[in-house]
Amino acid sequence: MNDIPQIPDDYKKVLMEKMRKQRELYLKRMKENSSSSDEKFVEQSNLIEKARSFGRSVVSRGFKNKKAKEETKNLRVLSCHGSEELGLMPCSERKNSTKFEGSFYCGACGCGDKQGTQLINLTIKEKEQYSKLDYPRVSCPLKMPGFGTYIPSEKGVSENPRKMMIEDKFGIDYIKEHSS
Ligand code: SF4
Repeated sequence: MNDIPQIPDDYKKVLMEKMRKQRELYLKRMKENSSSSDEKFVEQSNLIEKARSFGRSVVSRGFKNKKAKEETKNLRVLSCHGSEELGLMPCSERKNSTKFEGSFYCGACGCGDKQGTQLINLTIKEKEQYSKLDYPRVSCPLKMPGFGTYIPSEKGVSENPRKMMIEDKFGIDYIKEHSS
């Protein structure tokens, strides 16, 4: 994220205040809605769509293990894992892996808890593994920043407070450019 233009201090304060309010709203909504979703429309894709989506990711990786651009991966990391610095909570669909200690997988996309679907880069036999967030093309059921399925926030359609926090920080145009 080093190439992101610096934000002036006074604007930073306004942003932080906005983020604080959005975080409060997010926590309130989480309390009100005990379901695991923080989005109005978690996509309940069927098996065929899930298989198609995974197929697209595999094709994008190719035989040479191509990876997403750094800017894209950074957005995906924020979308899935959040950021303590920004007061951004992890995604409610991020689940603790029961197979890989300290790792996580997406509970909404249907890929399951497997080595190739972990949301962090595992190190196995001293070798860093390819993670789900490395694929040049990946889908996110919540249509979050950094993913090919990204849809900007819109009142009445997609009002995810976490998405809005990331959009406030980076801007929708930047996110569109770096989502794949
Ligand atoms: S891929 Fe999307 S739904 Fe899954 S954990 Fe990441 S942000 Fe959440």
